[in-house]
Amino acid sequence: MADSIEFIPAQYSSKTQPESVAQEMLRCDSADIDTLVEAGLPHEDRSGVRHFDPNDLYNLGMYSNSSRTQPELAFRLLFRFAGRPVDDLLREKLWDFRVQLECTDCAGDAPWHLEEPNVARFGGRLAEVAAPTTGAGTAEYRAMVTTTGARTPVVSPELRRLTHEYLDAGYRWQMIPVPMQADYQLVHALGATSCIAASLFLAEQFRAAGYRAEAKRGWFCGVLGGALDLPHACVEVEDDDGSLKTVDIAKAQLAARLSPKTGEFQELCLGSIYNKVIPSTASGNAPFGYHECGSRLPIQVRADIQSVRS
Ligand SMILES: [Zn+2]
Repeated sequence: MADSIEFIPAQYSSKTQPESVAQEMLRCDSADIDTLVEAGLPHEDRSGVRHFDPNDLYNLGMYSNSSRTQPELAFRLLFRFAGRPVDDLLREKLWDFRVQLECTDCAGDAPWHLEEPNVARFGGRLAEVAAPTTGAGTAEYRAMVTTTGARTPVVSPELRRLTHEYLDAGYRWQMIPVPMQADYQLVHALGATSCIAASLFLAEQFRAAGYRAEAKRGWFCGVLGGALDLPHACVEVEDDDGSLKTVDIAKAQLAARLSPKTGEFQELCLGSIYNKVIPSTASGNAPFGYHECGSRLPIQVRADIQSVRS
């Protein structure tokens, strides 16, 4: 189990999860944890209890091939849609979009800033927007967001070549902390990939080939109850036909890894847009928001996005 993944390097690792959580996530006992620790799973002893990085636990579970760990079940559930006909992903969809902002070390009243959903350029719209203004501690942003999809595959042979070169390079998708993903060279040097890292890397390749491209963050919808906080990013690139395309390369890779019957969805990721993603104005390595109070700690941004049946 431990041979199949790269552990999060010490400078990006935060060992917040006690052994009881590890056993539950991996559906194993303390002898199994001993084996993983002997095989190199990084840990910290605090008051006699071993603690682990949640990303390491996710990745161990995801690549355990036991089909019963929590990460395997969560990913299978989350990506069930990717094996279905993609027509459902192309129609209009309405989301009740809420984001909680929390300034954990708040220094007092100050304006809030959030990179908002930016859906209009891909055919969507915002309604009933309630954005936070000035306050302290916590705030909420809420809006009704309509997304849609469209089949707009990348036409440039050069962009397609670069994309397929990346897909064929065999990087292994892993859960990686957001600050480490900005260090995308390190992520790829480990043979790993993840949404933000992949998008930053590919955007740079596109620019080197003479295209206007930028990695952008957004929200991947359908992550129920916050069970899986999956950072989302994709590359926005101006194609040879003059239109803006999105390349969601890590989702294509993840879908390929999770299920062989996702070819149609994987193709959709290469230029087209689909209704489960809400793009934002945040660039690939920027935070979603901040509070002007002067606190040096970054704010916590938690999204709760529920599908509204029409
Ligand atoms: Zn604050």
